[in-house]
This record gives sequence, structure tokens and C-alpha cells, in this order.
Amino acid sequence: MSKTENRNPDTITDLLRGARSFREREYGKAESLMPGLAAGQKPRAMVIACADSRVDPALIFDARPGDLLVLRVVGNLVPPPNAADPDSAVMSAVEVGLQLLEIPHLVICGHSHCAGVRTALDATLNNPVPPAATLRKWTRMAEPACREVIAEHGRLPAEELSAHVEQRSILKSLENLRAHPWLREREASGRVTLHGWWFELATGDLWKADLDTGMFTVC
Ligand SMILES: [Zn+2]
Repeated sequence: MSKTENRNPDTITDLLRGARSFREREYGKAESLMPGLAAGQKPRAMVIACADSRVDPALIFDARPGDLLVLRVVGNLVPPPNAADPDSAVMSAVEVGLQLLEIPHLVICGHSHCAGVRTALDATLNNPVPPAATLRKWTRMAEPACREVIAEHGRLPAEELSAHVEQRSILKSLENLRAHPWLREREASGRVTLHGWWFELATGDLWKADLDTGMFTVC
């Protein structure tokens, strides 16, 4: 496909048509939710998901406007506290969700075929990685999960290791959340429950982590 073909003007027309359709659907009826949501929000869950175009939490979980506070970052990674680069993007969203809005559930939702996790895995395996410096730097935090999985499963092909790393890095991100004392206290007092889920693109299966054992099973 040429660059010219790739810039299909219909794409923007379609997006604008979609915005009009959303407005008609979500504002046009007496029972429409959106006008009322202008007064405030009370999401039922916060979801930290990947930026990948195929894993939109609102679609996967059949959610309605106002249901979910969603943060999408490459690889659904939560940095550890006191990292070399202060993590303001992820934790400011978590503070909005938990401290300001008192959301009672926080889900880290990873997925199969994750390019972000695969970048970390390829770097760990000394395979070629994309020439994207910031992506490379961001995904470095998934490398401890990569090393653990490689140590446990040996030198499987990267395709087979990826799913293990995707799941392991979800557990690592939950650990990184719990490394914040205020969040750990909030969890201990029952004001928030943490969850680790993994979405399998090819089948639509959702896998749920047992946070005591670290094992994932299909819901
Ligand atoms: Zn991803």
C-alpha cells in the first residue's frame, strides 16, 4: 500500500460520522446516559490496558459510558515507584481513580500478541527490536518478567514465551502498584480490590489470575 492510499480521506469522514452517531445514540433519548454524566462520574472499575487497537476495554467488557475509568499505556505496564524516570502518567490516573473517585476495583488487563511486551522479550533475548527509543526505554520495565519466564521455561521460541511474559508482567505491575504504601493500605482495608486479567485475541477468552498463586485460568 502506498503512502497516498494509506491516507484515506474516508477515515476522517468515518470518524466524524461515528461522532454524530454516538451523539444521537447517547444523547438523543430520554434514557440516554451521557447528559447526566456531565454532573459527575462514579465508575465501577478502573482498567489499565494496553494501547493496542484490538483490546478496547469498553468493547471487551461491554461497558457503558461512565462504567470504566480506563488508562491505556503500551504493554499495560505500571512502573515501580522511585524509578529513574518519575511515573506521573500512570500513577496520576490511579490517584484519580482510587483517591478521588473511590473506585472499588482496579484491573490490569493484558493481552496476547502484545507488541510492547514482545519488544521487552526480544531485547532480553538479544533479538532485533524496533528502532523506537522511547518504546524501548518504556518496555525495559518488563524485562524482569522476561528473565523470570526464560529461567522457568528455557529457550522456547519467542512466540511461545510471549504469553507467559504477558501474564507475568501483569503480576509485576500489580506488585508495583502495591509498592505504593497508600495503595497497599487501601487494599488491606478493603477499599479497593486488585485484579489481573489477560485477554486472548485469537479466541476472545479472558484469563484471570489467582493473585495468591500467580496462576491464570480461563474465566
Ligand atoms: Zn499490548
